[in-house]
Amino acid sequence: MFKKILIANRGEIACRVAATARRLGIKTVAVYSEADANAKHVAVCDEAVLIGPAAAKESYLRGDKIIAVAKATGAQAIHPGYGFLSENAEFADACAEAGLVFIGPPASAMRAMGSKSAAKSLMEKAAVPLVPGYHGDNQDADFLNREADRIGYPVLLKASAGGGGKGMRVVENSAAFKDALASCKREAISSFGDDKVLAEKYLQRPRHIEIQVFADTLGNCIYLFERDCSVQRRHQKVLEEAPAPNMSAERRAAMGEAAVAAAKAVGYVGAGTVEFIANQDGSFYFMEMNTRLQVEHPVTEMITGTDLVEWQLRVAAGEPLPKKQDELRIHGHAIEARIYAENPEKGFLPSIGTLRHLATPDAVNFELGGIPGHPSGVRIDSGVREGDAISPFYDPMIAKLIVWGADRKQALARMSQALAQYQIVGLAANIAFLKRLVEGEAFATADLDTGLIERHHDTLFPAAQPAAQGALALAAVALIEAEKQASAAQSGANAGDPWGSALGWRMNTAYTRSLSFTDDYAAALPAKAYNVQVTYRDADWLFNLPSCPDAQPERLSLMSQQGADFSIKLGDTAWHGSVRRDGDTFHVFTGGAHYALAYNDPMAHAGETEAEGGRLTAPMPGKVVAVLAEKGQAVKKGDALVIMEAMKMEHTISAPHDGVVEEVLYAVGDQVTDGAPLLAFKAA
Ligand code: ADP
Ligand code: ADP
Ligand code: MG
Repeated sequence: MFKKILIANRGEIACRVAATARRLGIKTVAVYSEADANAKHVAVCDEAVLIGPAAAKESYLRGDKIIAVAKATGAQAIHPGYGFLSENAEFADACAEAGLVFIGPPASAMRAMGSKSAAKSLMEKAAVPLVPGYHGDNQDADFLNREADRIGYPVLLKASAGGGGKGMRVVENSAAFKDALASCKREAISSFGDDKVLAEKYLQRPRHIEIQVFADTLGNCIYLFERDCSVQRRHQKVLEEAPAPNMSAERRAAMGEAAVAAAKAVGYVGAGTVEFIANQDGSFYFMEMNTRLQVEHPVTEMITGTDLVEWQLRVAAGEPLPKKQDELRIHGHAIEARIYAENPEKGFLPSIGTLRHLATPDAVNFELGGIPGHPSGVRIDSGVREGDAISPFYDPMIAKLIVWGADRKQALARMSQALAQYQIVGLAANIAFLKRLVEGEAFATADLDTGLIERHHDTLFPAAQPAAQGALALAAVALIEAEKQASAAQSGANAGDPWGSALGWRMNTAYTRSLSFTDDYAAALPAKAYNVQVTYRDADWLFNLPSCPDAQPERLSLMSQQGADFSIKLGDTAWHGSVRRDGDTFHVFTGGAHYALAYNDPMAHAGETEAEGGRLTAPMPGKVVAVLAEKGQAVKKGDALVIMEAMKMEHTISAPHDGVVEEVLYAVGDQVTDGAPLLAFKAA
């Protein structure tokens, strides 16, 4: 076994690999970019070396620098994680030339599977079923258009070198083909440096079911069952589970054997995933093979009681697979939810910022040597801690929340409980959305297909609900108690002076105060304003919401407080919750929900006006990839003006009204900052 390895990645996967290495007594070397100097993966490894600026191209994708660091630190092998260099065959070759073991498959297998088109040709020969389509070399636009007509719409265009749900376009009809092709090729070249595309029949209501395969250098190749990753947004996975619901033993064996055949066809070694797209009747087609560890590997670990990173290390060191096919069993059910810094209400727009407050459910701390499949049932794999930032440079994933249950029902219940305990303040996160998703009828009854989120849009994105009275009362109590403490702290000179205190003491009359809060949690929804009236009394308060039609003043009292955790009584109801203050906003976590109540402090100066004039601004930092309007051009409402790329997505900035473009402020290739005006626009 290796004595020291280098981990050529960042975030949760680097921490994940380091955890297993530590458990096996293997020393670890981290590499990091300037943006990650204080990152968790740097802290959990034995050594860490700076390899360059924030941009991945200048750091995590610099194979030459990484190899030099491995040599200099005496690492014997490199674990690439996923993303970055993990599927880069040249990098695997360069490792071998430098006398380092690449912890992954042979470069030849990566090459064979690296292009979706070439992989499909190979699988055709190995008699693995394929989705009807065209995956040849001819890239002429008219030719591809005719092929799409032949396949029949809707057609899916895919970047042959694509990954991460990027570089895909659904084309509904022949007239829309050329535009979609251009946009697909643009994304393909900018993301993967290769604009080759393939076309496939776009299946209706399919499921994404993938098989975990593992092979060693001694010729053994097995499958560790399947994962269902049908719940996706923008062709990216949101929830993953194992085993796949409603999978018969026969179908499982058929898919497992097809996956092993695919792996054997390319001389595979190590961990790999064969992705299939399946019809509701169970028929399945090869989609692609990911020649690396997969983001969602923990659900497989949880149901098989294995540590797949340990298996990777053993296989890379020349050892045989730890288990044979007939020694593997499925125990219970596991579900993973990807917790992202993003705003589901704004089309899943990634969000950046600092995790100013982070509280997680009780979980096995995997980094401290927790065993996969541990009966506590909850595992969190994360690369960030409270105080860390989600930057625009990398994937906006905050954590993977993984739960295990004796059956799917128990796993689901644990997932919704764990999500209720997850608290994030400082940036938009998808927790509430995930909670609605796992609690929704469709997922609960395993009515799965890749369109689940879109089809259930109305229940997954409900209209803004009025904030619970208890949440408003908790915010009010937290505010008043904080004022009390602040005034006690600065009492010093004027201690005992009732006029100088914030206790609400007023001569002879009960003091009634109006607190104004705005609930703006789901930023895309219209904010709701609340006027909370609090009357101070000797030992408690009277609480009222005069703007609510049937509101009655109710007795409000503080039962106990421990730091940010409050227990209050409102009328006859007890409320428990945490209240975290971030600037003027009170984040109230109660009853499994998160309310962000902005306090409109009458003492603070009035907010700045937010009129942007006629400027259209960048929704986030990123790169301009297309400018579709020029100075002086008249445009119609909804016309695309500028396309930006940021955080693995294209964002289109469209005309808000009919009007005229007065000025274009950036050109293709320019990097722009969050909120930068992109165009000057004049409404007609
Ligand atoms: P990536 O490399 O980005 O993972 P995949 O080829 O694996 O690309 O496809 C990603 C997702 O896109 C799939 O999980 C599925 O939801 C959807 N998809 C891919 N091919 C098809 C298809 N032919 N019909 C319908 N949906 C598809
Ligand atoms: P999986 O099926 O394992 O989710 P994906 O194709 O979605 O595989 O990609 C795996 C992961 O690799 C992504 O979740 C992302 O974190 C990372 N990744 C993909 N593309 C990039 C990229 N261009 N830069 C950095 N990381 C990437
Ligand atoms: Mg895929």
